Amino acid sequence: MSRSIFITGASSGIGEALAVEFARRGYYVAIAARRADRLEALAGRLRAAGAGRVLAVSLDVTDFGGIAGALRRAATEFGRLDVVVVNAGVGYSLPIGRGKFDLVRRTIDTDLTGAIATVEQALPILRAQGGGQVVAITSIAGVRGMPFLGAYSAAKAGLHRYLQSLRTEVAHEPIAVTELAPGYIDTDLNRDVASRPFVIPVEQGAAVMANLIERKVRHRYVPAWPWTLVAPVLGILPTRLLAPRRRRNT
Ligand code: NDP
Repeated sequence: MSRSIFITGASSGIGEALAVEFARRGYYVAIAARRADRLEALAGRLRAAGAGRVLAVSLDVTDFGGIAGALRRAATEFGRLDVVVVNAGVGYSLPIGRGKFDLVRRTIDTDLTGAIATVEQALPILRAQGGGQVVAITSIAGVRGMPFLGAYSAAKAGLHRYLQSLRTEVAHEPIAVTELAPGYIDTDLNRDVASRPFVIPVEQGAAVMANLIERKVRHRYVPAWPWTLVAPVLGILPTRLLAPRRRRNT
């Protein structure tokens, strides 16, 4: 039987590119997101690319009650779920205290609570079938609180800590926990950001990530170079070097 993978946030960007990459590798692929029309179009491409089976599931990860059903459907359809990729996310530039709390809350609900809810619902399925792998996409922004990304940095740092806890709890079980922390990958999430140092194309990012997932690594920055070197430096940079330039008349 082919290996199977469930990917949240698969209607665009990294999730979509990962789905194509794993389809090429012959996996059964379940794709989940809110935009069902995009998932349907992608499902056709995945079949053409070589996926043995494809399932498109409409899912909003902030509707926490719906996650278990989506995962169970894929597990039933495919016979088992080998890999669950917790990828769905939003990323807004949100200056703190400027009246954007609705988007702050959406960021935490999606990138932290939605991600944790997905892991919580995936674990019983993986345990019942005798093992599997949880993969979560965090971010270089979780290494340090970045200006205008307070909610995003908090969500990704929180998810990083949660995964550390998970890893200790499943240390004696056949469950692998993989955290992938990208720098800048060219997607809708950051296309209007003025500066994207060391940005890479999404297909390249997905190929790198798929290899890391298959190797069941514990934690990697993506791409490894230069972020493996830059991340620790980012963690100790003086605040004034990260602070945005002072603006006049504000
Ligand atoms: P995109 O905006 O291209 O994709 C985000 C995906 O998440 C979409 O498929 C979207 O689908 C889905 N999504 C958003 N909200 C929800 C929700 N409530 N329920 C279900 N799905 C949702 O961004 P990326 O591909 O770049 O982002 C993917 C992940 O990678 C995110 O977690 C992001 O934080 C992380 N990341 C990305 C980096 C980059 O440089 N691109 C850097 C570091 C981390 P839909 O709207 O159809 O629901």
